[in-house]
This record gives sequence, C-alpha cells and structure tokens, in this order.
Amino acid sequence: MPTYKTRISGGSVYVPGHGLSSLDVLIDGEVVQALVRPGTEAEAMETIDATGRWVLPGIIDTHAHTREPGYTHKEDFFTASQAAAAGGVTTMFDMPNVEPPTDTVDAYLEKRELADAKSIIDWGHWVAGTNEKEIAKFAAAGASGFKIFQVSGAYPHDPRLAVNDEGRLLRIFREIEKTGLPCLVHPFDQSMFEQLTAEAFAAGKPPNYFTFGEVYTTEQIWAVAVNTLISLQSLSGVRLHTVHTHSAASLHLIRAAKDRGQRVSCAVDPKYYHLTLDDLAKQKGRACPGGFITEDAERMATIWKSLSDGTIDMIDADHAPHTLEEIALLDTDAWNAAMGSPQYDWQYSITLSDVAAGRLSLRRAVELLAEEPARFTGLYPKKGVLLPGSDADLVLVDPNETRVLTDDGLYTKVGWTPYRDWTITGVVKATMLRGELIARDREILGKAGYGQYVSGVPQ
Ligand SMILES: [Zn+2]
Repeated sequence: MPTYKTRISGGSVYVPGHGLSSLDVLIDGEVVQALVRPGTEAEAMETIDATGRWVLPGIIDTHAHTREPGYTHKEDFFTASQAAAAGGVTTMFDMPNVEPPTDTVDAYLEKRELADAKSIIDWGHWVAGTNEKEIAKFAAAGASGFKIFQVSGAYPHDPRLAVNDEGRLLRIFREIEKTGLPCLVHPFDQSMFEQLTAEAFAAGKPPNYFTFGEVYTTEQIWAVAVNTLISLQSLSGVRLHTVHTHSAASLHLIRAAKDRGQRVSCAVDPKYYHLTLDDLAKQKGRACPGGFITEDAERMATIWKSLSDGTIDMIDADHAPHTLEEIALLDTDAWNAAMGSPQYDWQYSITLSDVAAGRLSLRRAVELLAEEPARFTGLYPKKGVLLPGSDADLVLVDPNETRVLTDDGLYTKVGWTPYRDWTITGVVKATMLRGELIARDREILGKAGYGQYVSGVPQ
C-alpha cells in the first residue's frame, strides 16, 4: 500500500458537477492522488482534520494589481500573495499598469524576476497590448495574455496604456489573435465620460468621490464600449474578455455575442455589486466607485442572473491597493486621485457570504472563482478543480463561521478593507498550494519564492 504525504479527512469535498461529498483527499507530491470514502485504508505521513469543513478548489484570480515594480509603497508580490493566500487565492494573474509598465519584453522579464523571488502563490501576468510590434515577442516569451485599457486618467489608469481608437484596437486584436492568448479589456468610453464629467461640474457638483462614482459607473459608458469591442472581436476573432462587466446592457450584448458563437467572456468584481451608497457615505473614497449600481434594482437583477446563468464567466478580485492617504484625495479632487481597493484578504468570504444568503449556488460560486478562470487560462484540469491528478490547490472553509471585518489582521500592505463593518459568513481556515499549506487560521506559512510562474496557453 502506498504511503501518501497528506490525508485531508472528514471534510465535504466539492466534486465538479455534483456538489459537496463526504470524501477524504489523498495527496502526494504536489497533486491530488485520490478522493476516497472516509474510512478507506490508506497511510499518510500527515492527516489534516477537516471535520465540519468544506474542501474547495483554491481561487484562480485573473485580476491582481501587485503594484510591483514602481508602486511598492502600496503593495508588492510578497504582500499581495500573502493577502491572497489568507483569502483563499492560490493562483493570481496581475496587470501591466506598473512602473515601468509591462509594454516591452524586457520590462516583462524584469517583472518575472522580481515576482519569482517574492510570490508565495502561483502567478501569471497580463502584459500590455498597446505595442503591436511586441505582441508576437511577448507570446514567445511566455506572457499569459494581454490587457488593454480603454480608460485613461490618473493612476491607475495610465494614459500610456490607454487605447481608444477603434482602428488601432482592431490592429492590436488581429495581432493578439495570432497568438491564441486572451485579450482582457477594461471597457470604457473615455469621450462620453469626459462629456458627462463636464456636465456634472457645470451643474455644480463637487469633484469628490460621490460625483466621480456616479459618473464613472454610468451604464452607457460601459455598454457603448462593450458594443464596440464585440464588433471588433467579430472582425478579428480575438479571444475577447471584458473586466468590470457590470452594466446591464453590456451583459445583454455579451449574452447575444455568446449565442452567436463569438469568443467573448467577461468578469465582474464584487465591489461593484456589493458596496452600497451607505458604504460610500460611511467610508467615502474607500468604497468608491461603489453604491450607484446597488441602488439600481434592474441592473442588480441582471448581474445576479448573469452570474447564475453563465453570461458572467468569472468573478475576479480587482485587488487594487492604494494607501489611505492616496484615497483621501478622492474627498476633494477625485479626478486626479487613485481609485480602487484591496480585495484579496477576504476574497473567498465575500462570495461565500452570497452563497450563505442564497443569492448564488455553491456550485456556481466555485465555477466563477476557480473552474472557469482555470479553463480561460488553459490550466484546467491541472488547476481549478479537485480531481485525481490535479494540483493540490485547495482551501478548507468553515461555512458557518461569521466575522465582522475590520482593518485589523490584513496582509495587504495598505492595511484597509472596503468591507469594514461587514459581517461575512464563511471563513477560509487553511489554504494549500501544490500540496503545501501556505496559510492556516490566517497565519501565513508559505515562503517567498514558492509561487511558480504560469505561462500563457494558446487556445
Ligand atoms: Zn484592475
């Protein structure tokens, strides 16, 4: 009889397409070797008691801002990956809006070197797709995929990375299509945003987080952009993926594009459909641009339906730390301030709370957080699922534990959460990556440099 490295016993394991099942997980090396009925004879060097716990795949998150290099006063690969490990994220893909931006192969290789030494979780990188001549070289060098920002303005919306011109976007999409890698886009009609901004100021509205949030989340700014992107996808065949997909009209357009067989997917990040106007009033810029979507019943109904029916393919974090000093500028000068919030520390819990409240099935939650992003990045079934042969990337969750979130005990370098005073249900008690525990009871056990780079997989 073989001796396994680890046995996770007594838990309810998530089995894809089936749900929770009383099973023990047998792990050897970095992978799941077998799922067996409790009591099945098997020797293991170490047993982890999972009684009362759910055993779920670790989150594959496609939207991280590690801020490294260039903005490491906000975050770096070590702190971002620690927050991720605590929150149940085992693989993250981060974004190119750093300094220097990853719009050249040299900058990309330098970034990989920095991350290789620091990340405690597995990671990939979306390089900037702004430089057409670099696209083929990026693919050859192992880039996970590409990111385009249609939005421009103050950091983090770096004007050097913004592309609004449709002809240029088409050329970029055609180049990316040849690589077989995905193209993520922050959809945004910058010109409409600037016009609505001018109208808001002309109406005497102050340039603060409230006015900014109201203008920035305007349904049509996002929907017009998504309409354009879907048209450019049909001309180019690129694997188009839109982030921040929270406008109802955008979701209807994406549904129709999928029904026509277009290669379009999308993600939404929890802050848009969770943070309320009450949060914005209490927390000011920390909750920006949240609140306006949650007040719109029709928009919210479309988001929840889209999460359930597969129109939305994945929930991403948009882990986007800024210091509280930087966020404070949103009180008076929001158009020149940094906007975004750290998310990783409680990433699984926000969606598990939706499961506890009956807003989402556990099956759909796991698909949105782990299975679908694993397919999107070409990692499935190595990651995103617990099957024999899969990497042992998993979390143990106490589904009944509740907590009131505070700014205490966070791993993000900036030390705050936009969910302050929220009560969450469902707490990650342990996180395992490739067979090693990297977090237990919110204590980090993972070592800097344990994380491995995940190269792009052409599809
Ligand atoms: Zn982002």
